[in-house]
Amino acid sequence: MCLLCETAAGGLSRRHLFRTGAALAASAGALTMPSVPALAKEAAPAANAIAPDKALQRLLAGNARYVANVSRNKDFSAGRMARARAQFPIAGIVSCADSRVAPELVFDQGPGELFIVRVAGNFVNDDGLASLEYGVKFLNMPLILVLGHSGCGAVSATIKAIQDKAELPGHLPALVDALKPGVEAAIARNPANLLAEATAENVRHNVRRLGQAEPIVSALVAEKRVRVVGGVYDIATGKVTLL
Ligand SMILES: [Zn+2]
Repeated sequence: MCLLCETAAGGLSRRHLFRTGAALAASAGALTMPSVPALAKEAAPAANAIAPDKALQRLLAGNARYVANVSRNKDFSAGRMARARAQFPIAGIVSCADSRVAPELVFDQGPGELFIVRVAGNFVNDDGLASLEYGVKFLNMPLILVLGHSGCGAVSATIKAIQDKAELPGHLPALVDALKPGVEAAIARNPANLLAEATAENVRHNVRRLGQAEPIVSALVAEKRVRVVGGVYDIATGKVTLL
């Protein structure tokens, strides 16, 4: 029996639809960025066709496994062929470049599950926003999480640059400028732990910026198809706390 027709008499089988859908979804991950035709919707749902809250639950459950040192993502060869055809990330992560913050490990997610923008200080510039727009619009990821972390050198350097009026070398002043809105708001409140408060405020600032980012992210947020949340990763415990 023809494999393509094994479940259908005279029509397209589910397997055929799935294959066609996978090929079309794969093309959605290519640079041409076509929309996926209706036929793909009849195939098996994409692995990231889940509600934003469900995606967040998966991340937090993965972080709980990471904290407990019972991570389950260790066989990275599994699914390689499928990943060569398409990607279905469940979340975009805006992470610091800090070498101690590894989002796939922190959330116990495998290859193909997180779409990560990394820059020291985990802020969103136009390039990062464009990357995330691609993720939510063309890869249909339902969640964006801005992830700050304890002991962030970029936030610490920004505090010092503002308070001491220190002049940093090279291109670092551009980074300080990007972090200023959150850090200055924290300084104005004179908190007991300025670094922790500035880190949290920087996350909140970028969550707000993303939620209002026109024309793509803000529209998807308004339709409740995408959620933007913030959290802080504690390097010492491994735990992510949502803000
Ligand atoms: Zn950092």
